[in-house]
Amino acid sequence: MNEADSEDIGAAFRRRGYELTDDLKKADAVVVNTCTVRQRAEDKAISQIGRLRKWKLARPDGKLFIVGCAAQKLGGKYLKNRFPFVDEVVGAKAIESFEDSLIAQLGPSPESETAHQNLFRSPQTAYVTIMRGCSLKCSYCIVPAVRGPAVFLSADAILEDAASKIKAGAKEIVLLGQTVNSWRGGKTTFSELLSKVLALPGLKRLRFMSPHPLFFEDDFTALLAREKKLARYMHLPVQSGSDRILKLMRRGYTRGQYLALLERLRAAVPDLAVSTDFIVGYPGETEEDFLDTLSLVEEGRFTMAYCFKYSPRTDRPEMAATVSEAAVQARLEKLLAAVKKNSRLVLNERIGKIEEVLFETETYGRASGNFAVRVKAGGAPGKIAEVLVTGAEKNTLSGKGLL
Ligand code: SAH
Ligand code: SF4
Repeated sequence: MNEADSEDIGAAFRRRGYELTDDLKKADAVVVNTCTVRQRAEDKAISQIGRLRKWKLARPDGKLFIVGCAAQKLGGKYLKNRFPFVDEVVGAKAIESFEDSLIAQLGPSPESETAHQNLFRSPQTAYVTIMRGCSLKCSYCIVPAVRGPAVFLSADAILEDAASKIKAGAKEIVLLGQTVNSWRGGKTTFSELLSKVLALPGLKRLRFMSPHPLFFEDDFTALLAREKKLARYMHLPVQSGSDRILKLMRRGYTRGQYLALLERLRAAVPDLAVSTDFIVGYPGETEEDFLDTLSLVEEGRFTMAYCFKYSPRTDRPEMAATVSEAAVQARLEKLLAAVKKNSRLVLNERIGKIEEVLFETETYGRASGNFAVRVKAGGAPGKIAEVLVTGAEKNTLSGKGLL
């Protein structure tokens, strides 16, 4: 979400004739888009802001903006007090008004409509935000507090955004939202929205992130089985393999229900690649709970998993960390090792199979299942081609193109 917001902010600058740069020395303005999902992210944002003091001293006329979720949590008053050289602070809830409230000060009004630039995944992959905020109440999570309750963009606005990004060169669209598959537009379901986006001319592949296990409707599996342009991949965060912890987390599903959902999805698409998120060291997590998480790695056949140490985000006393730091560290390492081992197995299973690869360069692209794929030569950037997988190393498949 923050990457998508950063692209939108970048586009607002570009509409005013600014260019984006990685070089601080050249910058007339700096925007720090902050995250606070875990304490570490917030700490990184704070130290980044601290480092910008030097830039501001050298460029007193330069503008420094602090935006996003940590800005929302900490507040403008606190940040400006601690960092008096900051010009403006805009929290995540006001991110849409960033353009009106801030950069309007910087220059003439918008001049071109094609200002969007894909900055993060690949030049041909564009994010399209379809909902903001989140209305669930997972016990560990700060997102609803800093981004507010779920708000769905209209189907028309989403289609317009996607169409203009395809027109500007995007081949792949990633629809974004915290519970992306909970999207609804009047009577239009999430699957119907997917169908409408899939029908846009020029689109080669459609992804979405992140779906939540509670919101898969019956029409989705049929669509997934039918639509080859819909990626054979899903990032479906599970958080824990222990029913006791899932309940404390208020995730709304059990391990068994999650696995049954995977089974249902894989019945529609047998080679569906699934990745996930895990949190270790949730308050009160026992060794037994952790073993349930560990065993889920293999049972879920995940291609990849982000593993996080629980980071306290609320002041509620029952949420104070109760698992020792040493135990959390040991669990994290065990989990990472299990994920790595399992990824190897899952990747090796792809050897001998044919993958549909959307090429980014002549030698590199991504399979529908989101695997990185390398070939010796012959890929056409922006086009999908079939590749016979001949090897797997680290997180990358190698293969040869089929004509
Ligand atoms: N909306 C998505 C998750 C968004 S947050 C979903 O529910 O699936 C991204 C990931 O950060 C989560 O999946 C979770 O694994 C992790 N996370 C969120 N809050 C955390 C916390 N307090 N400590 C550690 N990890 C956390
Ligand atoms: Fe946070 Fe995701 Fe739960 Fe929403 S669904 S509260 S964003 S973890």
